[in-house]
Amino acid sequence: MSTRKESPIKKFRLMERPLRQEEFHPGERRVGLDDRLDFACAGCGDCCTDTTAFLTPYDLWRLARYLHLTTDEFLKKTELFLDGPDGPPLLQMAHDPATGRCIWLDEDHRCPIYPVRPLSCRTFPLGVRHTPEGDLITKAHTLPRCRGEGGGSQTVRAYLEEVLAPEDGEWSRAYAALNRLLFPPGERRARDRAYLAYCLLFLFDLDRLPGEHFAAKFAAAEARLRRAAEIF
Ligand code: SF4
Ligand code: SF4
Repeated sequence: MSTRKESPIKKFRLMERPLRQEEFHPGERRVGLDDRLDFACAGCGDCCTDTTAFLTPYDLWRLARYLHLTTDEFLKKTELFLDGPDGPPLLQMAHDPATGRCIWLDEDHRCPIYPVRPLSCRTFPLGVRHTPEGDLITKAHTLPRCRGEGGGSQTVRAYLEEVLAPEDGEWSRAYAALNRLLFPPGERRARDRAYLAYCLLFLFDLDRLPGEHFAAKFAAAEARLRRAAEIF
């Protein structure tokens, strides 16, 4: 029997239209699956300071299970980030306020949760966005001192197949779609504190919902949140 894992990018449908310059973050550029990526992280941990390690609900679920914590206990190790004046709420790993270091980075500049680190940490320096027009892959600007640039040579496809779990695409796409429904661009819904708290609770504190596995819990969360979005 083959032990080869299912390709995590098999269900990717890439966005086709050209992007406007304002749709990129500073220093970011679009890449295709067959483009070369000359990069291999040297593991110095420098990029775990003053940066954002975003969490999807599936990330938080996996991390809580790995650390034998409840999702409520893990939520206390995160911070809320509002993406611009009208943008949606994003959850990120908490930082040490004195140093800006991610709270997980240890004294040896290692990540002790490396096997289940968030999707945004795993794909770096690539970024994957799931939009209504399809999936978009970008290459981020790295720190000037990053030793990863030029350190390896593979395709974007091979890099993503190595770092993504098979179900990452499905659950990050589902989260992106739900986030768009809950926080439509320009509506400033994330600035309503009661609504924001309710949405974050059911998006991320999945232990409070029925079901044993992530799929059942996310479906229960989605049903409640769709109702909340309708009556907002
Ligand atoms: S700064 Fe570059 S080499 Fe260092 S951990 Fe981050 S990606 Fe890896
Ligand atoms: S979770 Fe790990 S890899 Fe991600 S920023 Fe924190 S220490 Fe770095």
